[in-house]
Amino acid sequence: MSVPGHTKKLCDSVLFREIWNAMKVTFKHMFHRPMTFEYPREKRTIPHAHRGALGLLRYDDGQERCVGCDLCEVACPSRCIKVVSEQDRTKPLQRYATEFYIDITKCVFCGYCVEACPVNALAMTRMYEYSTPDKRTLLFDKKRLYDIGEQHAEDAKQYLYAHNQEKNDEESRAYHYHFPQPLVKARGRPVGKEASSDS
Ligand code: SF4
Ligand code: SF4
Repeated sequence: MSVPGHTKKLCDSVLFREIWNAMKVTFKHMFHRPMTFEYPREKRTIPHAHRGALGLLRYDDGQERCVGCDLCEVACPSRCIKVVSEQDRTKPLQRYATEFYIDITKCVFCGYCVEACPVNALAMTRMYEYSTPDKRTLLFDKKRLYDIGEQHAEDAKQYLYAHNQEKNDEESRAYHYHFPQPLVKARGRPVGKEASSDS
């Protein structure tokens, strides 16, 4: 026999059933580990795949990886990257970025710029503490981007591994496009130039 609706409501009111149901949830969570962190005293462990601040990277010998090809600028959906490049006069056939800006206030942390880079010069890091009252400081220039890359080099490397951008040194050398090495003789002059001046 089914209990009429108004009788059930009356029983629920008398027995404080709704309050009891709510308290059951509260009591259950009293024995769970807290999910919250007391930031900034406590900090979460951020996964390597986390998309934090962008940084520019150097090769192990200190040479800048970025060759100023502009592919990251083209790939960026927020139009927040600006690269100015020119030919490296000491190394024919090679270019480098003279200026590099990322307006991090416009960045949506999609990671497209990192994927577009043919030499893995850009990577994201686990750095997320750069809030500031002065918005103008959030236009990251080349120096700041290289500083971030240096300070968070291990993060950046792990980001590239986590996103399958770089595997290990051997594989990445074979997989990624490398710009032609300059034909420079010991004296530092390009072969082509020397040949023409000798004739
Ligand atoms: S992460 Fe996305 S939005 Fe941010 S700079 Fe790179 S491409 Fe642009
Ligand atoms: S960061 Fe990469 S994609 Fe962007 S200009 Fe430099 S080499 Fe090209």
